[in-house]
Amino acid sequence: MCKLKLLIVEDEQAILQGLIDVFVFHGFTVDSAADGQQGLEKALTGNYALILLDVMLPSVDGFTICNKIREQDKNQPIIMLTAKSSEEDIIMGLTLGADDYIAKPFSVRELVLRVNAVLKRNHQPSDENAIFQVGSIQIDMANLVQINSDSPCYFSRRELDILRFLHSNSKRPVSRDELLEHVWGYRQADAIETRTVDIHIAKLRRKIESDPKQPKWLVTVRGEGYRLLR
Ligand code: CA
Repeated sequence: MCKLKLLIVEDEQAILQGLIDVFVFHGFTVDSAADGQQGLEKALTGNYALILLDVMLPSVDGFTICNKIREQDKNQPIIMLTAKSSEEDIIMGLTLGADDYIAKPFSVRELVLRVNAVLKRNHQPSDENAIFQVGSIQIDMANLVQINSDSPCYFSRRELDILRFLHSNSKRPVSRDELLEHVWGYRQADAIETRTVDIHIAKLRRKIESDPKQPKWLVTVRGEGYRLLR
């Protein structure tokens, strides 16, 4: 069986070694970098199933690396390692197109779970030729870009997965837990504590709503979840 290869970019040696040990134990091949520049070069030239990316790094920071990867490859799975208290870091990472984040200090069990969920999700086929419409906005699902706009507006794969899932359940509100289960691949039983859904919904609203504070299409149903109106 071909082992999946991960790249871990982390400058704290003890954390890096711990992560390498854990993922090797779980059957991955692991490549690593302890410096931002080296991490960037490896990320752009290697062929990785997933990249774990620390934010604070010597020479080049994790946001810059994430941004450069996305310029070249919109589908590369990326999970950012952020500081627990830093909401700004989390929002920035997800805005630059990371698939998810995990806040330090993290539990190894949760990190492995998330890596496996992102990888599983990424192997599912999607309707790459489709045009998705919400309100007056049309999205080219293959190229992750809005069609009928003067300035190009790009979406992340994860954002489009959310729209697709809400659309296929558009007769009812969809809860945050359901989105975590079906879009991120996390099982409810794992009781994951994350703001990733809310942050992604806010990002989507800024892209598809004329007034993100008063959404007309991606609405909140109080106490139940989110609903996509068409
Ligand atoms: Ca660091």
